[in-house]
Amino acid sequence: MSRRFAARFLLFIGSLFLLQTTFAAQQRGNAPPPGPPPKLTKVQDDLYLIENQGGLPDIGAYGGNITVYITNEGIILVDSKNDKIHEDVLAKIKSVSNQPVKYVVLTHNHGDHSAGAPLFAKEGAQVIISSNDRENLARAANQTWLPSITYSGQAKLFLGGKEADLYEFRGHTRGDTIVAFPAARLVAIGDLLTTVDSIPMIINAPDGGSWTDWTKSIDEILTMDFDKVIPGHGPMITKQQLRGLRDKFVGIQTRVRAMNHERKTPEEIGEAIKQEFGYTGNVGSFIQELR
Ligand SMILES: [Zn+2]
Repeated sequence: MSRRFAARFLLFIGSLFLLQTTFAAQQRGNAPPPGPPPKLTKVQDDLYLIENQGGLPDIGAYGGNITVYITNEGIILVDSKNDKIHEDVLAKIKSVSNQPVKYVVLTHNHGDHSAGAPLFAKEGAQVIISSNDRENLARAANQTWLPSITYSGQAKLFLGGKEADLYEFRGHTRGDTIVAFPAARLVAIGDLLTTVDSIPMIINAPDGGSWTDWTKSIDEILTMDFDKVIPGHGPMITKQQLRGLRDKFVGIQTRVRAMNHERKTPEEIGEAIKQEFGYTGNVGSFIQELR
């Protein structure tokens, strides 16, 4: 067993423990139950968002955001939510279009975005993910299904006279995909961003995420031409708001680096970040990376 593998194995066991504890808490009724099912939000005639109505518990029950892009030759989805809510997702899509789902682009490998994808594949859709995040998916325990199409760097989808542009970035994972819809002047950027404090933005180090690369990625995304941003979790925001969130997280990184140099404890750092920035996520990955 290599050291790297051992570390990953320990992390895996750790995350199992965490899941187990969360599940046990839910069973005991300590954790709040999920809210009502996701809602369908119209962005424009051919573009919809399927978003949760509640907070963190909804992620386990339903998954993250789905972007629905309608063309007269089929539908392009960004992300798939989880498998448990698939029928509800299909009904929502059917309520706005009779077109079949042709492509499902996965922003990354995590189950709250990708677990519904095998069901769309079974119904005839092509599922696309970056090569890097397909490898992340393949490494996951009990993964019995993998997407059929990968790309690296950039790709374009053309359907019904419309276009979706895929760009690979590193940040939340090693191969995050953002999808730009030029005609809608909108980008769907997955878990490179969450837009509410109650669902803290995190990076996943075991899957190759990095805070330093996150900043580079967001800076590059900000040079692109768009007006609206659909995040992995939380409501749609404007490009200006994305700039604000970028500055907030760069502020957190600077603060964590300074406190690391002052040899503050993880508890002290966590408390300061909560007080000063309202960030309630695990600061472990910040501390590790920004020494
Ligand atoms: Zn994720």
